[in-house]
Amino acid sequence: MPSVAEILIPLALDSAYSYAVPAGLTLAVGDVVQIPLGPRETVGVVWGVRESPSGTNLRPVTGRLGVPPLSGPLRELVDWLARYTLAPKGSALAMTLRLPDEAAQAETVRIGVRASGKAPTRPTPARLKVLAVAEDGALRGKSALAKEAGVSLSVVDGLIDDGALEATALAPEPVALPPDPDHARVPLSEAQAGAVRDLIAMMNPAAAAACPADAVDESGGGQRPGKAGLGSPLLEGDQQGEAGAETPGKLITGAGDASPRAPTILLEGVTGSGKTEVYFEAVADCVRRGCQALILMPEIALTAQFLDRFAERFGVRPATWHSGIGAKRRERIRAGVAAGEIAVVVGARSALFLPFARLGLIVVDEEHEAAYKQEDGVHYHARDMAVVRGRIENCPVVLASATPSIETRVNAERGRYRRLVLPERFGGRRLPDIAAIDMRVDKPERGSFIAPSLIAAVRETVAAGDQALLFLNRRGYAPLTLCRACGHRYQCRNCSTWLVEHRFRRALVCHQCGYAERRPESCSECGTFDNLTPCGPGVERIAEEVTALFPDKRIIVLSSDFPGGAERLRAELQSVADGDCDIVIGTQLVAKGHNFPHLTLVGVLDADIGLTSGDPRAAERTFQLLQQVTGRAGRGEKPGRALVQTFQPDHPVIAALLSGDVERFYDEEIAAREAAGLPPFGRLAALIVSANDRDVAEAHGQALARAADPPDGVMVLGPAEAPLALIRGRYRFRILVKTERSVDLQTYLRDWIARGPKVRGNVKVAIDVDPQSFL
Ligand code: ADP
Ligand code: ZN
Repeated sequence: MPSVAEILIPLALDSAYSYAVPAGLTLAVGDVVQIPLGPRETVGVVWGVRESPSGTNLRPVTGRLGVPPLSGPLRELVDWLARYTLAPKGSALAMTLRLPDEAAQAETVRIGVRASGKAPTRPTPARLKVLAVAEDGALRGKSALAKEAGVSLSVVDGLIDDGALEATALAPEPVALPPDPDHARVPLSEAQAGAVRDLIAMMNPAAAAACPADAVDESGGGQRPGKAGLGSPLLEGDQQGEAGAETPGKLITGAGDASPRAPTILLEGVTGSGKTEVYFEAVADCVRRGCQALILMPEIALTAQFLDRFAERFGVRPATWHSGIGAKRRERIRAGVAAGEIAVVVGARSALFLPFARLGLIVVDEEHEAAYKQEDGVHYHARDMAVVRGRIENCPVVLASATPSIETRVNAERGRYRRLVLPERFGGRRLPDIAAIDMRVDKPERGSFIAPSLIAAVRETVAAGDQALLFLNRRGYAPLTLCRACGHRYQCRNCSTWLVEHRFRRALVCHQCGYAERRPESCSECGTFDNLTPCGPGVERIAEEVTALFPDKRIIVLSSDFPGGAERLRAELQSVADGDCDIVIGTQLVAKGHNFPHLTLVGVLDADIGLTSGDPRAAERTFQLLQQVTGRAGRGEKPGRALVQTFQPDHPVIAALLSGDVERFYDEEIAAREAAGLPPFGRLAALIVSANDRDVAEAHGQALARAADPPDGVMVLGPAEAPLALIRGRYRFRILVKTERSVDLQTYLRDWIARGPKVRGNVKVAIDVDPQSFL
């Protein structure tokens, strides 16, 4: 009987397509194949093979591609991702699969040269210098050779033309050399050593069983014994089966648990407590066992500083994976990972879909970061998917944070995750003293934004030769521009956003779609000349104020739109770390993960910014951000302090920050979430309906809501116009679905969408399970 293969195609298609398997070709699940699709050929993955008499009527598979098949765990991850996010299965597949055109881009060939043995026709002194270096016959890059000989590149080129040097293509630089787990073990503090011991015991229950005395109760880190597990590590994924009762308490004693499941571990430690060194030991342990480790970071945290730190510990830099990596290099990383040759990858969220051969550990650094949520295409949360991948691979997952998400904290409290705590800063360093500046009393001068007491503190700091950071989470010069004569406000033509003035670029820019226009000399509405006024501050405006106050100090403004791109930005962050500037003015970009040893003062210019949004996580997010940014102070030799400008010093978030009573904040916030049935105690999903026409979008949203038919435990709110009602010319309405935890949200959504109105014209419905953004 002929064979039929079910082929999943990495396009936005929900199901696999059937193709005939031609005689002579044997296909297995996971094989990557070429297939005809409509008039063209494309790539797909075999998702199933069966015998069927109908095989003869189908178009045949063209052939198998010479690439490694998609492994079982990755296929499981694709299935999981699609089922959980409701994304088309083909879109989920696309995240793991190399797309054919990606490889087309060739890597630049490096040319190496060496002495050919032939004497130069014209032996100038410069030429002889080059030949003296090249004499050893080693292959060197052209510029390396020129540099070593102390001559210009043209001398080397001349010798190549002359035949005295021969040129050959160099093998491409390896994407990563093998890290040495014992390269340079740093002496750990007692708390760190305790945490490492616990961490490794949790990761390897068998090892713990061998030396239980070492593993039990010596948790210098204050880990809490968990209750019996309530289900799978991922709260929202409970209904996906596999919800075996896991008893974390058992793992650590290793008492007769035949098939222990690899745990998820929350590594919680205040800023500067040395979490990195702790999880580096877990990485080292994993590498020693011949397994691979993945360290996920929010993209912007992937700094040279971190990679250097890794190199100090392991002797080489790790392979890195983020949006700035070229296609050819990606290909080589993918191959190296699949072959098991690359032992450690440090990457942004998409690294989660790399085809690791022997994954032994996933670390999610700064696990609370909202940047882990992908907000377009497949709406997935990389932290949650890391937990899923860990479960599929049965490898431990470490979630590191100074300010864990409420979800993770609750998971740890309920025993689904283990928890390790580093309560103090490394090396006896103190956490910064934090004080509020009550802006109702301590008012900045008219037209300025920095309170006198903060100015005084900056003055003291720079006078002592230390660094100060002024934090404001707003890019550009001013968030709003209006005409003083007619009141006209400058708005994006594609989005419902105000245009943000960027004085440096002399432009008004939309931060949503990138639309930019020249800042007009006269009002485009009433024509009044030179009467436009900026409203409110952005970092550029603060820089203006600071420059006027401290004209002879070195000042730098750092935000994600820093001119010169990511490379330049990384270099600037490094120079801040090296102490090459006095005052840093920055957005959240500088708030996170960086280590600036000379920084002793942090000034938060507007602590209240995030508190008024309608986001159910507003308090949590503000707390995390303020805790992170104030935590930049005093990480070096000298103690640090933070001053926080606020109009509501009594707000619970600000009060918790000032008092340092973190536990109280978590307790209250968790109680509030539970009372409101918000995640993780209830579940949320958002449906975002958009169209080029406002009425069409609204009508579709209403029709969709009418079909909702919510059962018990499900609430459907909306449609309501989205806070960002217009983006890139598309009008947006949101429906919010709120359910009890026991509800099978995915099945409900799937059925609802299926019976809902047909999507017509340019209407789009995006589904966002566990939304992080409510805009
Ligand atoms: P966290 O990630 O918890 O904020 P880090 O891991 O960045 O903290 O450590 C904070 C600082 O302490 C860094 O400068 C780091 O180099 C230093 N540090 C941490 N542990 C050690 C150690 N065992 N020996 C020397 N320095 C350490
Ligand atoms: Zn816009």
